[in-house]
Amino acid sequence: MDYEKLLDRAKEQLPDDVTEDSRFEIPKVKGHIQGVKTVINNWFEIAKTLDRKPEHLLKYVQKEMATPGEIVKQAVIFGSKLPASKINEKITQYADEFVFCAACGKPETKLSKEAGVIMMTCQACGARNSVKSRI
Ligand SMILES: [Zn+2]
Repeated sequence: MDYEKLLDRAKEQLPDDVTEDSRFEIPKVKGHIQGVKTVINNWFEIAKTLDRKPEHLLKYVQKEMATPGEIVKQAVIFGSKLPASKINEKITQYADEFVFCAACGKPETKLSKEAGVIMMTCQACGARNSVKSRI
């Protein structure tokens, strides 16, 4: 029996509430206001959780927030004061558009570009969908 099957069996034996706890969760932004700017310290961690490039995530969020942002070391600095709740909201929106499979809702997806269209392929269910949003 291979490791994957062992894992599946282990999951089956867990009570429901434990399985619930292990579901995919996007980390909330951590940071602070610095003068008139907003510094987010865990941007790379969030991007890594989503399995997307930090630059791609930033491109989307800065456009949605209408505020320029730049990557400095592993942090992101936005050019104005932004409430964390708003940034979290945009990251969730990004995940809905670029990470979660439209068919099964799982985050195990890969993006690729085909003839100028971004395609999302799900590793979990095999669904292929085009991504509507352009950044
Ligand atoms: Zn899927």
